[in-house]
Formats: sequence, structure tokens, C-alpha cells
Amino acid sequence: MLHLILFGPPGAGKGTQAQLLGTQFGLIHISTGDLLRSELANRTELGLEAKRFMDRGELVPDETVISMIMNRIHQMSETGGVIYDGFPRTIPQAEALDRILKSEHEKISALISLEVPHNELVKRLMLRGETSGRSDDRNISVIENRIKVYQEKTKPLIDYYNQQQKYHTVDGTGTIEQISQRLTNLVKKIKNQN
Ligand code: ADP
Repeated sequence: MLHLILFGPPGAGKGTQAQLLGTQFGLIHISTGDLLRSELANRTELGLEAKRFMDRGELVPDETVISMIMNRIHQMSETGGVIYDGFPRTIPQAEALDRILKSEHEKISALISLEVPHNELVKRLMLRGETSGRSDDRNISVIENRIKVYQEKTKPLIDYYNQQQKYHTVDGTGTIEQISQRLTNLVKKIKNQN
């Protein structure tokens, strides 16, 4: 089974591309951001608690996100695998994911990092804020904080996966189709080696 992590800063295009890859390769798409927003839409206790962090551009506590992921991963049988979007975002989350997969006799196949320059990220997020209804995309200081949190807490994951020779990069600039084509080519290679 393929277990791919689509990685990159906020605004890199993970959601769009994860969805396309999911359809193409028969993978379930797990987005912790989407799961948290759906908890919030249903006004669950978890969702309301998470909102306090999301509104400030901070990370939701690891325990919350990890338990949400565990519930979702147990539903993964009968698929070609999973594409993770927005998870893991910290080293403890990566370690928890390794443990969960190990207990299912599975493992991460690769982490693919979408590379996009900083000024392009801010531009994309502000533009998304005009239509997405996401309050965290409308405020420049929240956007800058999310990128800062990415640099500090999430980027160290590159080393974690690089040490396991699972780290790959893809140019995240250009049209959605161009980026999608680059990702497809890479995932085909990874799939053959898997
Ligand atoms: P983006 O990548 O554009 O910031 P997401 O939808 O992935 O958007 O995440 C939105 C918010 O949800 C994050 O700013 C964070 O508060 C929370 N979140 C999502 N995934 C995680 C995670 N794995 N760990 C902690 N918080 C998360």
C-alpha cells in the first residue's frame, strides 16, 4: 500500500494536488485541516477547541490531531493507500504516524515537498481568503504566523524523512496541471519502487 505525505508550507497547493493524486492513484485523501474544519462545522467539542488555535495560525495540540488521524486510518483497508495532507506537522506527529502504521504492518513510502517561494505563498493565501470563507486566510498577520510556525515546527520533518531516504521535492510553481504532471511522474516512480 502507498502512504504518501504531501508536504509544504500553507498555500503550497497541497489540498488541490492531494485530491488529484488521490483520484488518479486510488488513494484516500486525509487532510487534517479539512477534518478539523468539519469538526468545527458540526460544532463538536473538538472543533470548538481547535478553532482557538486555528484562528491564531497556531498548531492544534498533537494529541487532538493524532487521535483524529487514528480514527481515520482504521478505515483505510480496501484502498490503494493514503495521501496525507497537512499531517504530520511536528516530529511527535510523525513518530505517532510511524507507530500507527507499524501496528497495521504498513509504512510511509515517501514525503513529497511542494516548493513555492514565500511571496507567492502570501499572494495565494490572500487570494484564497477572498473566496474560501476561511478566516485564517484573510488576515495577513495570521498568514505570516502560519508560515513562521511551518518554518519552526514543521520544516524539521524534512530531516526526519531525509534520514530514511524518503524525502523528495517537486517545483510547486506554474499551473495546477503542470504541477500535477510533475507529481504524477514522481509518484509513478515511487510506486514502482514500493
Ligand atoms: P494550511 O496548510 O493552508 O495552513 P490546513 O487546512 O492544512 O491549511 O490547516 C489549517 C489549520 O488547521 C492550521 O493552521 C492548524 O491550526 C490546523 N492544523 C491542520 N493540520 C494540523 C496538524 N497536523 N497539527 C496541528 N494543527 C493542524
